[in-house]
Amino acid sequence: MNARLDELKARLLEVNDLGSAAAVLRWDQATYMPPGGAGARGRQLATLGRLAHEKFTDAALGRLLDALERETRDLPRDADDVSLVRVTRREYERSVRVPAAFVSEMSEHDAHSYQVWTEARPANDFARMRPLLEQTLDLSRRLAGFFPGYESIADPLIDYSDPGLKAAAVRLLFAELRERLVPLVRAITAQPPADDSCLRQHAPEADQLAFGLGVIRRYGFDLERGRQDKTHHPFMTKFSLGDVRITTRVREDDLTDALFSTLHECGHALYEQGIRHEYDGTPLAEGASAGVHESQSRLWENLVGRSRGFWEHFYPRLQASFPAQLATVPLETFYRAINRVARSLIRTDADEVTYNLHVMLRFDLELDLLEGRLEVKDLPDAWRTRMMTDLGLSPPDDRDGALQDVHWYAGLIGGQFQGYTIGNILSAQFFAAATRAHPAIPGEIARGEFGALHAWLRENVYQHGAKFTADELVERATGSPMSIEPYLDYLWRKYQPLYGLGGAGPPRG
Ligand code: ZN
Repeated sequence: MNARLDELKARLLEVNDLGSAAAVLRWDQATYMPPGGAGARGRQLATLGRLAHEKFTDAALGRLLDALERETRDLPRDADDVSLVRVTRREYERSVRVPAAFVSEMSEHDAHSYQVWTEARPANDFARMRPLLEQTLDLSRRLAGFFPGYESIADPLIDYSDPGLKAAAVRLLFAELRERLVPLVRAITAQPPADDSCLRQHAPEADQLAFGLGVIRRYGFDLERGRQDKTHHPFMTKFSLGDVRITTRVREDDLTDALFSTLHECGHALYEQGIRHEYDGTPLAEGASAGVHESQSRLWENLVGRSRGFWEHFYPRLQASFPAQLATVPLETFYRAINRVARSLIRTDADEVTYNLHVMLRFDLELDLLEGRLEVKDLPDAWRTRMMTDLGLSPPDDRDGALQDVHWYAGLIGGQFQGYTIGNILSAQFFAAATRAHPAIPGEIARGEFGALHAWLRENVYQHGAKFTADELVERATGSPMSIEPYLDYLWRKYQPLYGLGGAGPPRG
């Protein structure tokens, strides 16, 4: 069995090396590559992708898995080797069912669609995207068709980002959350909005970057095993567990935009840097799911980075970095500004209360498209109607409506958005469990110390990588299945005093 395990790991390492090389090329494309490199870069990525797919779907790898499954049958499910075989099998089955020709067709279509979208969105030209989006919908349906036996056609697509999660479960979860969230949004937005003009001031890029880097070093981001660079749309990527990259974007007319984006990506990076080193180069060296990954970015960005305690420590330091902008602005004014809640058109600019309504809208429209209740040509109208119902405002054009997010224009329709809201829900559940185990955590945060929180997350979440499913991980770490209660409780405790809301708890339906 050991010889077979060694062979499996050697094969997986080759696949991983090809994937990591592609990740370096993609990172470079989004940071330093001159425009003239675009054509060759696309080809290089396609070549690496094809080689990795060929190696991973090799029938010999399937036979190895068959043998190893027999040999590890009596070992405990959470043993590392058993987990490696199980997780590799899940990904192997997913890869062999999809023909290589379809994978190429899809990636060519994605690249083309993305290219057109970069022009069509600024031009507010949905008509130009429509045939491409119809093709994307067709491809998404065909992809789901390789996995017959599903309940919802969205299930196999959701499975790519949140393994095991079903559309029906998401629908239920979102309905429950929506019922409790809408009254809270209504109660908050009935109050005068917080004044955030103190954030809209010129702040030099170098000072913003230095401040952000100082905070994430305190968080525990290891610069020996990571770095930060600039990009247009911030993201995290990794080339190995010893090299985890984050990117950020600086707007000099906004004091905290780059900071919160840096804290967000740092949360993703802390997860990756915390995975057990023995898993490097295998399918176990990943997050458990998109939702769990997002829970870590949101936890460090919002539950920590937008908390009052955090700013009791860091605000005097921020004022020292930006004296001309903030010297006369009280902490309370700044704290209210960074936690301003307002109905808005753009998901990525939305505050942590209304954000989920943007996500639910997209999730439901994806299902409507996939399940045939909505045609692509009617998408812009459906978007406007739903925005009006949920947020009480309607985008004046498609640029800020159905053309807004890159997701559908550079990938699948289906499974693209649920992880964001699941991340919000889980961020509060993990944070509550950590503070139950270590009641000193809030006091530490107010002193700019994050050691106990980071250690709890490493121990209970990060080190396991993809070994457990999201459900298993949440249950093990927090003692209960995923629940919206810690999240609603967190929102209420934070926003009730901020907006002077009446009542003993979150408003009900
Ligand atoms: Zn994220």
